Amino acid sequence: MASPPLVSSPHAAPRPLWTFHGGLHLPDEKALSSGVPLATAPLSPLLVIPLQQHIGAPAKPLVGVGDRVGKGQLIGEAQGAMSATVHAPSSGTVVAIEERPVPHASGLSAPCILIETDGRDAWAELPPPLGPRPDPEALRERIRWAGIVGLGGAAFPSSVKLRVPAGQRIHTLILNGAECEPYITCDDRLMRDRPGRILAGARLLRDLLQAEACLIAVEDNKPEAIAALRQALAAGEDLGGIELVVIPTLYPSGGEKQLIRVLTGKEVPSRGIPAQLGILCQNIATAAAIADAAEEGKPLISRIVTLTGRALGQPRNLEVALGTPIKDLLALAGGLGSGLRQLLIGGPMMGFACDDLGMPVTKGVNCLLALSAAEAPDPGPALACIRCGACAEACPASLLPQQLYWHARARDLDQARAYHLFDCIECGCCAVVCPSHIPLVQYYRFAKTECLAQEREKRQAEHARQRHEAKTARLERLEEERKANLRKKKEALAEKPAPARASAPARASASAPAAAPPTPLPDASAPADTAPVLPAGGGAGSGAGEPGAPSGTVTALAGTPGTPDTPGTPTADTPALDPKKAAIAAALQRAAEKKAALARQGQAPKNTEDLTPAQRRQVEAAEARRRELQAAESASSGREQP
Ligand code: SF4
Ligand code: SF4
Repeated sequence: MASPPLVSSPHAAPRPLWTFHGGLHLPDEKALSSGVPLATAPLSPLLVIPLQQHIGAPAKPLVGVGDRVGKGQLIGEAQGAMSATVHAPSSGTVVAIEERPVPHASGLSAPCILIETDGRDAWAELPPPLGPRPDPEALRERIRWAGIVGLGGAAFPSSVKLRVPAGQRIHTLILNGAECEPYITCDDRLMRDRPGRILAGARLLRDLLQAEACLIAVEDNKPEAIAALRQALAAGEDLGGIELVVIPTLYPSGGEKQLIRVLTGKEVPSRGIPAQLGILCQNIATAAAIADAAEEGKPLISRIVTLTGRALGQPRNLEVALGTPIKDLLALAGGLGSGLRQLLIGGPMMGFACDDLGMPVTKGVNCLLALSAAEAPDPGPALACIRCGACAEACPASLLPQQLYWHARARDLDQARAYHLFDCIECGCCAVVCPSHIPLVQYYRFAKTECLAQEREKRQAEHARQRHEAKTARLERLEEERKANLRKKKEALAEKPAPARASAPARASASAPAAAPPTPLPDASAPADTAPVLPAGGGAGSGAGEPGAPSGTVTALAGTPGTPDTPGTPTADTPALDPKKAAIAAALQRAAEKKAALARQGQAPKNTEDLTPAQRRQVEAAEARRRELQAAESASSGREQP
């Protein structure tokens, strides 16, 4: 593909241009809509705002049903690195948050916020202007806040694209005004009607990226747009390095890789990005939206949509509030005629069928194309591939569409990948030239979807595996820690001296009712064979030999002198018992000793030993009253006796 420059642009400072492989000269059909000046569509009574109008994760809703919102209010926050915010396109009330059909080739539904407009179109409070030379980080943050995405149709979040990978530098900024697809004229009208906004965006982006050159590329089939930009460039200030480059009309020169090739002669590597070459591309409408956000604090809440095709009453371009239902827009362009054969979202080459007129306009919708039967004749059934090779000659990505088709049809996804499936830009050139009318792009889209699903499943499986391994490792670590702690405790206990047994007299005095503490303490001076060795682990006051000592340290529970060891009571000769049982036995032992001591003193146990003096006085007073009552009763019964 390396080739010398073929043509030169006709502007003041000629610049060499290159060409790319393949491509097609198509009837442009742009005159259908480009001649009508840009107008603003009236507000619809109900706006349907999808939370995902961009590549990446859907936004998270920040409002609930019944909330009132102002125009430009943030209603959906970006989630994750690859996402974009969503704002209310007009003032009104949130009436529902629900799944609705959205414009996407998959035809699937997605969560949407439904706003009933109040007709006042009243702005919410907006952030202040950033000034003529904003701080780069402040400008990036403003672009992120404003929810700006690529308006050429890709809807890639601009704040992500403008974050240049570390170690890379952007020397050339390209603003894409090629608009190469037939019928579509929204960029053409923007360049004609608002060239100043595009140049303001170009200036901001040039400064943000510190780019040496900013090239605004426009196909030579848009003379009015070229003239308007030239005039604005001549009249504008601070536009150093910004250059208008007119390029030959050839579909798909508006493709990012193809445009870079045309302007610089460089090839973006397979599955690579332009930043690797020091180049960054943005659509001209994206640049204008960035200027609106930076200079006026306006988020992205509207876009220009081309309404065209011979089955439409009045083709034109309208600036439309995002969320406007497609049926409302079609009515503003004269409505669909009876000769309608196909309604497409997008152009005839890369668009997809619109099968629900309730679907809303989103950030990525640049065109509604109502084709008549004459414009879209029935191609008839697909025939067998005759291996003519016309598709390969037309492919602007230098792929082998025929081989890709075989592998996609056979679901041989590995082979499809090997044939660079993901370098296919779905331009449709191969399908247009195919004499067998094979819907080649549909096969490629299907294969890409399958590949992405496979990759997602692989990622999920890998994620689940990593989580399982992390959990297993954590449990093993905890078990190791538990064992180590246990080991340390045992070692610490082994180092402490064994508790000595208390002597029998000491035990007897300890069990005396008045002086006895709640539990006897071991007497270290007592002979080991008579000391009361109580179950360990019961803590201080429980009668244990050593607070905190494990049950394994209990060696014996001494029997009362003169009484045989009770069955099940461990002694020095018997193995250690269960600590609880030993504690109970010790308590019983103490109670028995106390009772015996009281009996020897001729007293019945009153269980008043542990009372406070005040409690004792209360008990004694009660006893006195009881004795008086008994005496009175005795006297009375004596009088009545015969
Ligand atoms: S253009 Fe169609 S028929 Fe010809 S090789 Fe390609 S797929 Fe086959
Ligand atoms: S659709 Fe893909 S394979 Fe076909 S011409 Fe375009 S880039 Fe090549």
